[in-house]
Amino acid sequence: MRLIFIGPPGSGKGTQAKLLSQRLGLCHFSTGDLLREAKRQGTPEGLRAQPFMSMGQNVPDELVNDIVNSRFRAADRPQRFVMDGYPRNLAQAQSFEQVLHQQGFDLHAVVFLNVDDPEIIKRISARWNCPNPQCKATYNLLSQPPKKPGICDDCQTPLLQRDDDRPETVQLRLQVFHDLTDELLAYYRKRGLVVDVPGIGAIETIHRNISAALATKKQPAV
Ligand code: AMP
Repeated sequence: MRLIFIGPPGSGKGTQAKLLSQRLGLCHFSTGDLLREAKRQGTPEGLRAQPFMSMGQNVPDELVNDIVNSRFRAADRPQRFVMDGYPRNLAQAQSFEQVLHQQGFDLHAVVFLNVDDPEIIKRISARWNCPNPQCKATYNLLSQPPKKPGICDDCQTPLLQRDDDRPETVQLRLQVFHDLTDELLAYYRKRGLVVDVPGIGAIETIHRNISAALATKKQPAV
């Protein structure tokens, strides 16, 4: 299966993309994760991406397209995958289309995980992370709070909020998402690829709904 997941920040798109990849043995390809890792390692891409990411803006298309293109041209390129957070706009979708074409790959479906803005703001503002790179535990003050406020249960490190999870930055990320996603979804809807799944409910319920929606789509021949 070759899938693209689209959803607002905080929709659970990453969690669902990871879960589906694990269960179906697909490569989970998250440009957000790749960029955060590049930032952490201080690579030239990471340094270039850093100011955009901390302000909640998208990094320039050519930077993220280059990262994707080079992974898909490598000998060990992903063959069956879930794209998580890429493509994010029409220009990226067109660039990705070329990559897929060069590889002779067809897409199976585009999953749109839909959650409304007030729910997103509530969810993201409650998200805290353990900054210890050996731990990386995540918490949610509403649904999964740490036992001691502000402290990681697993390694006792003080918890931090991602710079781009602060409420004012979340508003901006949502604005960016809406500005770009309408035409991106229209592009894939025209090809009959989109399945719409509400991103509300328990993780397993949403996973089941995604699997059921995907079962209605025909698998491409290649
Ligand atoms: P995410 O983890 O998908 O929410 O991405 C976190 C941040 O990484 C975004 O706010 C952007 O700054 C950057 N990013 C990730 N994927 C892309 C992409 N496809 N295009 C541009 N920026 C991206």
